[in-house]
Amino acid sequence: VHRNPAEPEFHQAVAEVLHSIQPVLQQRPELGDNALLQRLCEPERQVIFRVTWTDDKGNAHVNRGFRVGFSSALGPYKGGLRFHRSVTLGTVKFLAFEQIFKNALTGLGIGGGKGGSDFDPSGRSDGEIMRFCQAYMTELHRHIGPHTDVPAGDIGVGGREIGYLFGQYKRITNRFDAGALTGKDLNIGGSQARPEATGYGAVYFLEAMLAERGHTLEGKTAVVSGSGNVAQYALVKLHQLGAKVVACSDSTGTLYDPTGIRADILHEVKQVQRRKLDHYVELVSSARFAPDRRPWDIPCDIALPSATQNELGEADAVSLAKNNLIALAEGANMPCTPEAIKVFQEARIAFGPGKAANAGGVATSGLEMQQNAARTKWSFEHTEQTLAHIMHSIHHTCLVTAADHGKPGDYITGANVAGFLTVASAMNTLGLV
Ligand code: NDP
Repeated sequence: VHRNPAEPEFHQAVAEVLHSIQPVLQQRPELGDNALLQRLCEPERQVIFRVTWTDDKGNAHVNRGFRVGFSSALGPYKGGLRFHRSVTLGTVKFLAFEQIFKNALTGLGIGGGKGGSDFDPSGRSDGEIMRFCQAYMTELHRHIGPHTDVPAGDIGVGGREIGYLFGQYKRITNRFDAGALTGKDLNIGGSQARPEATGYGAVYFLEAMLAERGHTLEGKTAVVSGSGNVAQYALVKLHQLGAKVVACSDSTGTLYDPTGIRADILHEVKQVQRRKLDHYVELVSSARFAPDRRPWDIPCDIALPSATQNELGEADAVSLAKNNLIALAEGANMPCTPEAIKVFQEARIAFGPGKAANAGGVATSGLEMQQNAARTKWSFEHTEQTLAHIMHSIHHTCLVTAADHGKPGDYITGANVAGFLTVASAMNTLGLV
C-alpha cells in the first residue's frame, strides 16, 4: 500500500488474486521464488502524458493520458482504453492487472495492459472527440504497435474513437499496421462480432454456469446494469436465448420495463442519438425511468452488472439474494465489491467473475489480430462460433481448476489460479526480466 498510495481499486484487485492463489503457493512453493509475486504486481512499464486539445470554440484543454503495460510474459500488452472523468493511474493499474489473468485464460498468447484518460466525452461533439483522440495518439503511438502493445476500447471508447485513434496512428507512423489497435470498424480491418463479443461472451459464460445447475436461460428474468457496449449486446443475446431483460441503467438512473427492454430502441437512444436513458420512456409507453437509482432491487433470476467497478455493494447483493437470484456474471471489470461477493457465495449463487465472464471481448480482439496478421476476414458465424468455443473452454478451465484446488464451483478461485499458473510458468521460462 505504501508503494502505491491512493490506488484502492488496484489494491482490491491484487488482494483478490493473492488470496485465491494461496493454496497453490503452499503446494508449489517454487512458484513464489525469484520474487515472482513482486514482479507480477509491479507493472513492466507505466506511461503518463499530457494531452492538449481544442474544443469547438477554440479553447484549449489539458487532460492526462495513461498507458500501463503490466505483463508481456504471454505476448504483446493487450487491453482497452478508458475515457472517463474518473480515470486515475490506480484505475488503469487495476484494469491492467486484471487483464493479465483474463488474457491468459483466453489461451491466445496476449499480455496484460490498459490505458485511458480523465477526458470526459459526454456532451462533446464529433469534432471534439476526433481532436482529443488525435492528440492522445500523438503521444501514445510511440509506445504501441502490433508486436508491442495493442489497445482497444473500454468505457467511453467505441468504434468511433478507435477509428480516429487508428487514423492518427496511421498518419504519424506512415504504416497501415491494422494489428496496432483492435475494435476497428469492418471497413478498416476490424473483425466481425467484435462489438458484440463481450456481451455475447458473458451470456455464453452465464449459460454454461446455469447448465451446471440444471437450468437454461429460457423464461428467465434478467437485470443488466449499464447500457453501453457490453450491456447492449448482453441484452441482445439474452433475448435470443429466451430470457427477458426487464431493466438496464446508465450514469443517470435505471430503466424498467416489465415487458422487456427493446434492444433496437436502446441502440437508437444510446448509440445513434447518444442520449441518456430517460429518453427511452418517451418512445416506449410501458417503460419507467427512475433517476439516480441502481437496478439491484428489481426481482430477477439472473444479473449482469455491466457498467463499472464497485457498482454492486453488499446491500445490493442481499437484495438480489432475497429475490432468489440464481446466477450472476460480471460483464464489467470488478463491478461487485468483496462484501457483495461474500453474500453471493454464502447464498450459493453461481458467480462468474469478470476476468472469466467478460473475456470474450479481448478474445475476439485476439481473433482480430490473427485476421490482421493473415490479411484475411472471417465471417460473422465463424467468429461467433470461435468466441462461443473460447467462452465454453474458459468456463471449463475455471470449473476444473476450482475443483482441483478444493473449491468446487468457485469460479473466482478457478479463474485466478488458472490465469496465475499460465503466467507464472511463462515468467519462469523467460528468466529474471
Ligand atoms: P460503455 O462506455 O460503452 O458503457 C458504459 C455504461 O456504463 C454506460 O451506460 C455508462 O453510462 C455506464 N457507466 C459508466 N460509468 C459509470 C458510473 N461511474 N456509474 C454509473 N454508470 C456508469 O463501456 P463498455 O460497455 O465498453 O464497458 C462497461 C464495462 O465493461 C467496463 O467495466 C469495462 O471495463 C468492461 N469491459 C468492456 C469490454 C469491451 O469490450 N468494451 C471488455 C471487457 C470488459 P452513460 O451512458 O450515462 O455514460
